[in-house]
Amino acid sequence: MAPLPGWKDLPPGCPIQEPLSARNNLTGSWRSARPIWDHDKCVRCGVCDLFCPEACIKPDHEGLYQANLDYCKGCGICAQECVTQCISMKQEEE
Ligand code: SF4
Ligand code: SF4
Repeated sequence: MAPLPGWKDLPPGCPIQEPLSARNNLTGSWRSARPIWDHDKCVRCGVCDLFCPEACIKPDHEGLYQANLDYCKGCGICAQECVTQCISMKQEEE
C-alpha cells in the first residue's frame, strides 16, 4: 500500500480533487452500531434518508428503506429522526 500523504502534501483548503471520490471512503468500516428497521412500522416517508449524513439510506426494489452498511457509520441520526421510531441501533459484535 502506498504511504499516505503528509499534511504538507495536501493542497490549501483540502478541496476535493476528484469527483465522487467519497465513494472510496468506506465509512462503515469503523461503525460500532448498525440501524435495524422494523419495516412493519415504516410509513416510507423518507425522513431517515434526508437526515443521514452519509446519504446511505435508500429504498430497495420493494420500497423498503435500508442502509448501505459500506457507508453507514452508525451515528444513529436515522433512529433519532424516524417519525415512527421503527429504527433501532444494534451494537456490532466484536
Ligand atoms: S446510523 Fe447514521 S450513517 Fe448509518 S444509516 Fe443511520 S443516519 Fe446514516
Ligand atoms: S423515517 Fe422511519 S418511517 Fe420514515 S422512511 Fe425512514 S424508517 Fe420509514
